[in-house]
Amino acid sequence: MAGPDLIVRNVSWQDDMVDVWLGGGRILRFAPLGEKAEECALIDGRGALLLPGLIDAHVHLREPGFEYKEDIASGLTAAAGGGFRAVLAMANTKPVNDSAAVTRFMLEQAADTHPFGPRLYPVGALSKNLAGQELAPLAELAEAGCKALSNDGVPVANADLFRRALEYASDLGLPVIDHCEDPHLAAGASMNEGRLSGLMGLKGQPVAAESLHVARDILLAQYLNLPVHLAHISCRQSVELIAWAKARDVRVTAETCPHYLLWTEEMVKGFNTLAKVNPPLRRMDDVEALRQAVREGIIDILVTDHAPHADHEKETPMDEAPGGISGLDTALSLSWTLVQRGILSAEDLCRLWAHRPAEIFALPSGNLTPGDPASFILFDTDATWTVTPQAMRSKGKNTPCLGQDLPGRVRLNVVDGHVVFQDAIVS
Ligand SMILES: [Zn+2]
Repeated sequence: MAGPDLIVRNVSWQDDMVDVWLGGGRILRFAPLGEKAEECALIDGRGALLLPGLIDAHVHLREPGFEYKEDIASGLTAAAGGGFRAVLAMANTKPVNDSAAVTRFMLEQAADTHPFGPRLYPVGALSKNLAGQELAPLAELAEAGCKALSNDGVPVANADLFRRALEYASDLGLPVIDHCEDPHLAAGASMNEGRLSGLMGLKGQPVAAESLHVARDILLAQYLNLPVHLAHISCRQSVELIAWAKARDVRVTAETCPHYLLWTEEMVKGFNTLAKVNPPLRRMDDVEALRQAVREGIIDILVTDHAPHADHEKETPMDEAPGGISGLDTALSLSWTLVQRGILSAEDLCRLWAHRPAEIFALPSGNLTPGDPASFILFDTDATWTVTPQAMRSKGKNTPCLGQDLPGRVRLNVVDGHVVFQDAIVS
């Protein structure tokens, strides 16, 4: 057996301190601390926690068309520093990713700017120009390299079109990700509908705008016996419907985001546009249902729904500001606050951010058993950092936790044996 070409020393792995030996892009072995090897590159992990590289199955990287908000280069740089080994990038670009030409352009931008990762997997549009009128050329998108299909951002109101999308996507072996929102109930909403939206005089979005559409998708998936993946679930009613479906072996999977596990509608008080997101932040009862759902696997994975916007777009009245939170820089630290509070375990985070997304989207395994691709991160759980525009690598500085201190720093990100991010502290 060839020797290692890189050893990462002194890392915390399964309650032990070990050295990780890498060779040929793979994990060779976990060795006792300080075991001698032939000459090779060394990195001192300084006791940081070894975790599998994260997968974010829902990001908006804005290129082509909205490069002033984010581009593929800056988005992948934020992903690298945030601990991600791969991202799935949504199709609501300009032009929309509804053709092989746009898919190939995105893949080329990723390969040019981040040849060793994090990997970008494009998500193709379900309908042409996301208009919900006719299907996009799904086979062409699959052939060009899309890993999933979605109309994210513009929900498909036409249930017959959505049914045909599920059927074609299944023939192509691609998951369908659905943004669940009744467009009429949700129209013009700036926040959750309830007492607070009334007090603030803002149009609210009822939870039923989401859950009606969740129910539709579940009933279609059950009738057709086909899989569907539900995006960014935000409320208890949706969780209860998904639990109902899973108990009947309906092939439904679902995601939520750190912001729905941490924050409530109270965040929009003072007309804080940074907390405007779609679906909106809900009530504490919804947050509690979501926490239980991710613990129990009713909700399968965490995603950021990374939605970068420019400052001038958020510095507007609530009803004019675009919805969205920039999430790649803060996702792991925000998730870690849930571990610190005993709401999730570190093993839950590995399942929610790495193992389950790899299964759902058929991506290479990141289980970190010897022989597996060496895709892992070192996470320094003792460190804290302040969320400032300068500290964020994304062009989008739009997060309601600006100015907050968050726990944990990514010190090293290795994708398939290549270091794609390294903090000075472990060099
Ligand atoms: Zn969405």
